[in-house]
Amino acid sequence: MGERQSPVRDQLARPLGVLRLSLTARCNLACPYCVPDTQEPAGLLNQAERLAIVSAALSLGATSLRLTGGEPLLHPGLEGLLAALQPLRNGGLSEIALTSNGVLLTAERALRLRQAGLDRLTLSLDGTDGASVARMGGQSAAQGTVVLERVLSAIDHAVKAGFDPKAGSLKLNAVMQRGRNDDQLVPLAALARSKGLELRLIEAMDVGTRNGWTPNDVVPAAEMVARISQQWPLEPLGRTSHSTASRWRYRDGMGHLAVVASITEPFCGDCNRLRVTADGMAYRCLFAAEGTDLKPYLNQDPNHFALRQAISELWLKRHDRYSEERGQAHSNAAVRSPAEMAYLGG
Ligand code: SAM
Ligand code: SF4
Repeated sequence: MGERQSPVRDQLARPLGVLRLSLTARCNLACPYCVPDTQEPAGLLNQAERLAIVSAALSLGATSLRLTGGEPLLHPGLEGLLAALQPLRNGGLSEIALTSNGVLLTAERALRLRQAGLDRLTLSLDGTDGASVARMGGQSAAQGTVVLERVLSAIDHAVKAGFDPKAGSLKLNAVMQRGRNDDQLVPLAALARSKGLELRLIEAMDVGTRNGWTPNDVVPAAEMVARISQQWPLEPLGRTSHSTASRWRYRDGMGHLAVVASITEPFCGDCNRLRVTADGMAYRCLFAAEGTDLKPYLNQDPNHFALRQAISELWLKRHDRYSEERGQAHSNAAVRSPAEMAYLGG
């Protein structure tokens, strides 16, 4: 592992803090707002290469790792990777999180992930009835009901395995799309409240080129909060530095709600996330026009000097703030965002 130094800072003085590492671009669902691949990309990284990338990011100041996809539970080496990451705790790795759709999260798997050293888990669910889940997950009506039941069970399995919602180690993500599942806002909040989970409502984003996003898809975070607050009054807690979510507290003491307002209230100003795809492309922004291929720098030397140098240079040049620029005349959809969400990992 490279020697740890103070975090490398980009052109806007933003430190590197989080690595989001996508383990696969494949998924067992086909959410139309994401449109994942059905096959692995050529050049899928192996475990040694993933560890090298994590080590290099840690040496440049990252402290937090989020494993994602595609669907990361499809990756057969997930538990092995988690175990192999544990020695990096001494090198500054303070937290390992995972985002999953939960469909494959059996009781045994939840326990194995916890025992292998996973700290936090975010499960994604976009509705509370089979029809909504089917629509948002690109499934048949019958499959929607099965998916819903599996994710509800996954929540219980995760809690039993030790992912404690009260400690923030289990959360629920839901993407909101106008006219597709925004009728699920209050039911999803009710579900999360009943299970003691923080629900993170995400504005539908214009990532990639496949999902046909239009501004009409977006339910603004302020509207989501207002609609839920009518039912259960909320008070604001704000957004902590480097975080994606603005948090709210239910006045009746029944926990928290969060909104990720990437479209209506962008948070580029303190974004500290580096994304690496399953095939080793590094992206400085969810909406970046191009990535940097890290594969030529892998396996060059045991200390990963070239890899560290490549990531450092990429970060030093970083000036991306697409969400803030969106809507301004020079942000042109035709010249940006070739990478899809299932590669970038959310
Ligand atoms: N398959 C896993 C899951 O769904 O949780 C992990 C990968 S997924 C790309 C990570 C997160 O990104 C999910 O919570 C998903 O809902 C969210 N997401 C995907 N496409 C999105 C979009 N176009 N706008 C907003 N969020 C999106
Ligand atoms: Fe799969 Fe997650 Fe994309 Fe849905 S959002 S298709 S579950 S990778």
